[in-house]
Amino acid sequence: MTPPDLATELDRAAALVAAAHRIVVLTGAGISHESGVPTFRGPGGLWREHRPEELATPEAFANDPRLVWSWYGWRAGLVAACEPNAAHLALARLAAARAGDVRIVTQNVDGLHDRAADALSAGTATAARAAACPLELHGSLLRRRCTRCGWHATVPDPADARTVEDGGALPACHACGALARPDVVWFGETLDPAVLDAAWSATERADLCLVVGTSALVHPAASLPAAARRAGAAVIEVNPEPTPVTPLATVSLRCTATVGVPELVGV
Ligand code: NAD
Ligand code: ZN
Repeated sequence: MTPPDLATELDRAAALVAAAHRIVVLTGAGISHESGVPTFRGPGGLWREHRPEELATPEAFANDPRLVWSWYGWRAGLVAACEPNAAHLALARLAAARAGDVRIVTQNVDGLHDRAADALSAGTATAARAAACPLELHGSLLRRRCTRCGWHATVPDPADARTVEDGGALPACHACGALARPDVVWFGETLDPAVLDAAWSATERADLCLVVGTSALVHPAASLPAAARRAGAAVIEVNPEPTPVTPLATVSLRCTATVGVPELVGV
């Protein structure tokens, strides 16, 4: 049974969603937790005793590309075994139903929002699929790009990073053959300016900002809810734990993503 205070807050949040004209949704690792993808800061966030901050850096890759590719291979294997959950699917349906007025911005690199968009359209390129396609602020661990030339894969790369851990070849660029790297933004790197601009403009235009499953510690993504608030938007947070977004949230839903999101988006 839903506790009464959560039920009341869910009603308030659902009313805000129904009344909003333009919505920006910011998601983090927490939305994928119930799909089985570990968050960095929760239990299971370590890999072979390494903290993500030691592996997700350009320096770590320069020092030991095999170690870093092994970690990404392990993560790619985890994600391949997971499915989008009810929260990813509800957001995809909301974005499709209100095409052009809802923008999903994610810090996740797991491709699950994209797979939820695929689930809407059975993998075909429809307007609904395009509307539900997220802005991936930190890239995707399923794609790769070259460390030397400008080549980057536009779709998940079939070459299997999962064999690296067992001594397989390191992934190579399809254009020049140099070492490829995961197409993600590492600690200390800057975000793709075009993706960041699109996220800012969606935030500035929004009258509602929905923040799901992020500890709101990694900037610039973490600045988006405060920017939305300053621009006059309401802010709804869905997270079992308080975060730096909590003090500025209009409504904080202390529940998991699969409990809160489907109910409040109402599609
Ligand atoms: P984080 O690990 O710092 O924080 C996760 C947040 O999700 C926490 O606030 C936690 O309370 C909340 N949470 C946990 N379970 C939840 C649930 N079931 N429903 C709702 N919320 C839940 O994640 P972050 O803020 O996204 O920042 C970490 C960085 O690491 C990001 O840059 C991201 O790219 C990367 N990362 C991505 C993935 C992924 O792609 N799935 C996984 C781990 C880390
Ligand atoms: Zn190249």
